Amino acid sequence: MAEKRDYYDVLGVEKTASEQEIKSAFRKKAKQYHPDLNKDNPDAAEKFKEAQEAYEVLSDESKRKMYDQYGHAGVGNGGPGAGGFGGYSNFSGADFDFGDIFDSIFGGAGGFGGGFSNFGGGRSSGPRATRGSDVLMRMDLDFDEAIYGCEKKFSLDVIEECDECHGHGGFDREECATCHGEGTITTQQQTILGAFMSKTTCPDCNGTGKTYKRKCSECNGKGKVKKHKKITINIPEGINTGDRQRVSGKGNPGSNGGENGDLYIEFVVDEHDYFIRDNDDIYLEVPLNLTEAITGCKKEIPTLYGNLKLNISSGTNSGDKQRIRGKGVDNKYRRHKGDMYVIFKVYTPKKLSREQKTLIEKLSKTDLDTSEIKEFNKFTKRNDN
Ligand SMILES: [Zn+2]
Ligand SMILES: [Zn+2]
Repeated sequence: MAEKRDYYDVLGVEKTASEQEIKSAFRKKAKQYHPDLNKDNPDAAEKFKEAQEAYEVLSDESKRKMYDQYGHAGVGNGGPGAGGFGGYSNFSGADFDFGDIFDSIFGGAGGFGGGFSNFGGGRSSGPRATRGSDVLMRMDLDFDEAIYGCEKKFSLDVIEECDECHGHGGFDREECATCHGEGTITTQQQTILGAFMSKTTCPDCNGTGKTYKRKCSECNGKGKVKKHKKITINIPEGINTGDRQRVSGKGNPGSNGGENGDLYIEFVVDEHDYFIRDNDDIYLEVPLNLTEAITGCKKEIPTLYGNLKLNISSGTNSGDKQRIRGKGVDNKYRRHKGDMYVIFKVYTPKKLSREQKTLIEKLSKTDLDTSEIKEFNKFTKRNDN
């Protein structure tokens, strides 16, 4: 294999050339070496390919970076044992937008899909199959539905292959009369560069080379019909707001035989009256009365998985937290089990009975100040000096 030339040299630009400079340099080279314009020059096709390859790399910001850093090897090209340029040999299938450049050369002729007859590897294989785009749908879930999982049914209009004609759009296949089965038609283009032949996709068979004797009435020849689909999805335990579930093939239809995109369902989960969810952890505020807080107690509390007798220690304050391991969300979607946190809140009664008042007055004559209260009182005194 001959030594590969530097891509910047190929296009005749500086290493610092702008996107625009690279584009116009390529445009110039493409005009100069275009195979259809250089039928007598056997080297032109090679030169054209070379310019082509250089342009594909230098016009792509990330490929250019790789090339600048690692040379030809950096763009998967020209390294030891490297084959041809990926995507290059399959011209019509290359992930490369010729449109803007060639439209200007061909005076906006378009229809470049077929490739040039004398351009290596650019054989017409019909229009490129394109997968349909994905669709995103929102779905609201109750708190419980999300925690415990559920089955959801909904219906949706999906454009799918016509059952009647199996997606062909007609019956009794025959060779397209317009292009004689070629899939492309050759037209003569008049441009400022003179006249030359150009191949465009056959409009009657869309490049397939085949037409049908009878058009399918079910889909009106389109090969696709809108179907009202009933869809059932199983939502795993633990799904949360923002999580998505994919329903394969229920997105937008593809074109030229490309498959449908996918449907993504994004969930929005309602809040619960008592349980507060933080990812897979569950927070629950547990109210305590005065004596429960002072003496401690055994108290039954709700969890996601049934009630639980909780030992609350004496001297519990508002805001004290207790962790109950493994009683958070059992998240099957992320394969993770959360914890539950109980947060205590002491509620002081606003009204007391006569008897309670007497008891509290008795209590108030004892020393109830904790060390925190005593420290604070000392600070207050100091502050007054
Ligand atoms: Zn049909
Ligand atoms: Zn045709």
